[in-house]
Amino acid sequence: TMSEPVSLTLPNGQTVQVPTGLFINNEFHPSSSNETFPILNPATGEHLLDFHAATEEDVDKAVAAARKAFKTVWGRNVAATERARLLNNLADLMESDPLLPLLESVNGGKGVRIAREADLADSVACLRYYAGLADKPNGSTIGAFGTEKFIYTVQDPIGVCGQIIPWNYPLLMWAWKIGPAIAAGCTVVMKPSELTPLSATYACKLIKEAGFPPGVINTVNGTGAVTGNAIASHMDIDKVAFTGSVVTGRRISVAAAQSNLKKVTLELGGKSPSLVFNSANVDEAAEWLALGIWFNSGQDCCAGSRLYVQSGIYDKVIEALVKKAKQSAIGNPADEATSFGPLISAAQRDKVLGYIEGAKKEGAKIATGGKPWAESKGFYVEPTIIQDVNSDMTCVKEEIFGPVISVGKFETEEEALELANNTSYGLAAAVFTSDAKQSMRVAHALEAGTVWVNSYALLHVQAPFGGYKMSGIGRELGVEGLAAYQQTKSVHHSL
Ligand code: NAD
Repeated sequence: TMSEPVSLTLPNGQTVQVPTGLFINNEFHPSSSNETFPILNPATGEHLLDFHAATEEDVDKAVAAARKAFKTVWGRNVAATERARLLNNLADLMESDPLLPLLESVNGGKGVRIAREADLADSVACLRYYAGLADKPNGSTIGAFGTEKFIYTVQDPIGVCGQIIPWNYPLLMWAWKIGPAIAAGCTVVMKPSELTPLSATYACKLIKEAGFPPGVINTVNGTGAVTGNAIASHMDIDKVAFTGSVVTGRRISVAAAQSNLKKVTLELGGKSPSLVFNSANVDEAAEWLALGIWFNSGQDCCAGSRLYVQSGIYDKVIEALVKKAKQSAIGNPADEATSFGPLISAAQRDKVLGYIEGAKKEGAKIATGGKPWAESKGFYVEPTIIQDVNSDMTCVKEEIFGPVISVGKFETEEEALELANNTSYGLAAAVFTSDAKQSMRVAHALEAGTVWVNSYALLHVQAPFGGYKMSGIGRELGVEGLAAYQQTKSVHHSL
């Protein structure tokens, strides 16, 4: 049986047909239990539509499809140039699809322009980068050993990969996972977040159009507890790649270890620090700091959520940042001008407001924001600055995953580094200074997988991305991102 597309009316009045089924073997299927789950428009709180929820049995079917494809048409049976060609086809189809950014916006709450110019554009660039990398030589010659033997290596694809992604960048996280896995020759069972399945499920249509053989990329929507857990604990999945919270990352590690010891890579949370020294350009720093904490309404794993400012410019930096907060383009995501949208859910909004209340009780001061945005019924929280924090406060220790920055003061470089590294996370960090020796010293001493100097939030598809400490295991993007889907075989050839 097939699952038929469903009508969806977008905020611009346009009615479109979108798939809501499980994508297995290049066809959309209903759930074997007929169970569904709803998705909402976070800007209004209104119900959008219902998606099919994959049971364990459905995950088994998707894995069987992926295994069969791996053994027959993919894996070692497909030329790298062909994998590159299909990835490029997919990138072209996505780039010219006007609907994708609208779907990303209505489900994720991002401004449509951002969804188009950042999320979609970066997703397309990621697929193209890995298409380009797919057919580059990647084995090595170890050499001849006298007249007895010759040794070389080949890079084999790992196999069937489960991929579990979060709701903050539904399409971009999808591309970061699909691109390297497919380029390496793996097949995929993808699980988008149950809050944001719309764009990734729609993209399945384009996967088929691009010419991928059935079973190479499968998509199973559903909850973490059922569908996600079925992937993490599956006996015939060779690797699971996960992006999301530390709590879930740990569960997935345990499930992987207790099933078939599948390989695991994790991209987890962060509590990323920014250090601003007296010599920094205050206005430029404020510009980057604002982007670092308020892009995607703060729902960003590398959000710059802890700010430490040297005492000489502490008041000036707060003043400049308050000004930036008040200039935020908060609004309806359907408007081109909106860059600051709602949080993903009522639960997320309430969690963020809870952290703000907690900070007040612990004695911190709210410099600006701190409330839901009064002009909408959606899940908005205003851009918020908490000042005069100390290291014991909950808002400084825990990831808030909302538009809330906590600001504290320091005197010396040594003290700044101690404050910055005083966390179990290590995803990203930033340093602002006009002293080039200082920026190098500090960049090298910061315990984080990505460090920005006099900037924030910029990622590059060629630069590896991932966490120190509890922010993750492994790297995505760059050549390392491809290697995460390969395993090395040494061939000892007797002569
Ligand atoms: P989450 O961990 O709750 O969910 C992420 C995904 O895991 C979802 O698809 C969910 O259904 C699934 N899941 C939940 N429980 C599961 C289980 N027991 N077994 C298998 N899968 C399960 O995270 P979220 O709330 O969607 O996303 C927010 C978190 O993600 C934040 O903590 C943020 O820091 C992190 N994040 C990290 C990065 C990064 O690159 N490091 C990027 C984006 C988000």
